[in-house]
Amino acid sequence: MTPAAGSRPTGFRAVFLGAPGAGKGTQAQTLAKVRQILHLSTGDMLRAEVAGGTELGLRAKSFMDAGKLVPDDLIIAMVEGRIGLASAGKGPITRDWILDGFPRTVPQAEALDRALARAGMALSHVVFFDVPSPVLVRRLSARWTCARCGAIWNTESKPPKQQGVCDHCGGSLKQRTDDRPEAVGQRLEVYERETAPLLDFYQSRNLLRRLDANRSPDVVQHALIQLIQNGAI
Ligand code: AMP
Repeated sequence: MTPAAGSRPTGFRAVFLGAPGAGKGTQAQTLAKVRQILHLSTGDMLRAEVAGGTELGLRAKSFMDAGKLVPDDLIIAMVEGRIGLASAGKGPITRDWILDGFPRTVPQAEALDRALARAGMALSHVVFFDVPSPVLVRRLSARWTCARCGAIWNTESKPPKQQGVCDHCGGSLKQRTDDRPEAVGQRLEVYERETAPLLDFYQSRNLLRRLDANRSPDVVQHALIQLIQNGAI
């Protein structure tokens, strides 16, 4: 089933695809703020579940710490719940979203297709953030996240003014367990095996737009905005 089955998309419903460390999260955060739309990061949702000690969090934690994917059925239920809320007729802001880190497998993409079709919706953009593997490894090991507000910093490309402290809120910066060297290789392997096939999946539906994301965050943001304006489907 094609996501656009019969209907032209009217909102901004984007999927950001790319390997861990490709910069999708940083770009989604900024774009969501500028356009006042929802940024749904499955990684952030899962980390919140883990921090809250929920049943889902407890089930997900061991997969996440090992750099493995959380099983499809858990993720699909979590995302469908959020998209259901996001599209519950609450007006233009809640109708629009960016999915960051979902789908990550072909069954997840198929489930998203079905959920959107049921709601009479379709994706408007699928953006692939393209970065070579050696750059990803360097980026992930330099990535630090604010424990309070979730802002993402990078000691190489986007360092905070004061080491270990978030410029935005003064919160302390932490390295994610799965950004430690022992989990990074595993995550990139999982990406190649499970997620890279989605490029063909969306290409064959003529939805995929490639972005050279091996550039500074500001340059990528500019290119992303242009791509969205020019490449609107
Ligand atoms: P991220 O912050 O997107 O890199 O996600 C961190 C971790 O959460 C991943 O390594 C997976 O263990 C899990 N995760 C996030 N999104 C998904 C997904 N769509 N499918 C399965 N696992 C996911």
